[in-house]
Amino acid sequence: MVYKIFMVIIMNTKELMEAEDKYFVNTFTRQPIILDHGDGLKVWDTEGNEYLDFFAGIAVNCLGHKNPKLILEITKQAEKLIHISNIYYNEPAIEFAEKLVNKTCLDKIFYTNSGAESNEGAIKLALKYTGKSEIISTSNSFHGRTLLTVTATGQEKYKEPYAKNLPQGIIEVPYNDIDAIKEAVSDETAAIIVEPIQGEGGVNIPDDDYLPEIEKLCKEKGIVFILDEVQTGFGRCGPLFAHEIFGVKPDIMSVAKGIGGGVPMGAFLATEEVSKGFVPGDHGTTFGGGPLVCAAANATFDIIMDEDLLKNSIDMGTYLLIKLVELMDNHEVIKEVRGAGLLVGMELNKDGGEYVDLMREKGFLINCTAGNVLRFAPPLIVSKEEIDLLVKALDEVL
Ligand SMILES: *Cc1c(COP(=O)(O)O)cnc(C)c1O
Repeated sequence: MVYKIFMVIIMNTKELMEAEDKYFVNTFTRQPIILDHGDGLKVWDTEGNEYLDFFAGIAVNCLGHKNPKLILEITKQAEKLIHISNIYYNEPAIEFAEKLVNKTCLDKIFYTNSGAESNEGAIKLALKYTGKSEIISTSNSFHGRTLLTVTATGQEKYKEPYAKNLPQGIIEVPYNDIDAIKEAVSDETAAIIVEPIQGEGGVNIPDDDYLPEIEKLCKEKGIVFILDEVQTGFGRCGPLFAHEIFGVKPDIMSVAKGIGGGVPMGAFLATEEVSKGFVPGDHGTTFGGGPLVCAAANATFDIIMDEDLLKNSIDMGTYLLIKLVELMDNHEVIKEVRGAGLLVGMELNKDGGEYVDLMREKGFLINCTAGNVLRFAPPLIVSKEEIDLLVKALDEVL
């Protein structure tokens, strides 16, 4: 045992990376750094290099790194109880449910451990509630990696390897096309699942009337309106949830990513009426809504509210957007800049991968999605000064 610990300590960065190749199932293409610790927007790798984190662990770390209040609440809860299962009542989970429900248009919550699990449960609830069999989803969407959610994901590359085993009844239509949805609706339509703003698909923002039209159609036809707010929720796009921007109310909403400031957690929320689709035994989870993650969610939620981070998301998001638009004057490679709050995309006329590498070498962590869209999703605490540094580096790199 001592020998093993010693081995890990003396491994250098390159050896650690080789060890991963040896032991891990090969699913991720990683950036060639090992992140070791962080503070606010800053993170450091094992070689001592410093970075400004403009991707926040895929739009997760909404409070940045090393938030003292979050650490304190997680530590306090760990000293009391870490896990008890859903066989027993659990105070932090009840506290968070009350807090969250009171800030949304929905009435009931079911806790999960990830975005995919939230969507999986949301779809199951809609199927059970309506007793129908079809789900309409949209092109370029991303809903997760389980067989059901990858089927609902409108990106061929993720589901093609499993083509023979994908669940039935999911119909894909183009995003931001209400007529396509109307054509796809049938007597068997249980639900329409859509992201209010597509994240993974390239930060795609629908027309103002798209979501209201879906809501109206769902009401008319008795279809469950599911919004996937896994990426857009908890202030990422400005308001607590992105659907508030469009003035709509979903019947079910799935959440995850930012919910607990970095701990693995998710949930779906439903209206009182739709929630009746499930009765005891219909759905479940061992870990979902455990006391540890709910303590983190309570702390994260309180910090977002107390420190006005929703306002900072709007203010800094607008500032970033304006600064990126200014770059368009000097760089023809930029095709379009778009975003809401601190979910911002810069579409290029070419593949964006090389810019992610060049920015990292300059000390900035960003992402490229959908091939040619640079995606920025910094912690909600980001400052003007940090944005200025990012934009200056981008200007040089582009
Ligand atoms: C990330 C994401 C998911 C999947 O979340 P996991 O936690 O990776 O399962 C689902 N929907 C959207 C919109 C996402 O951004």
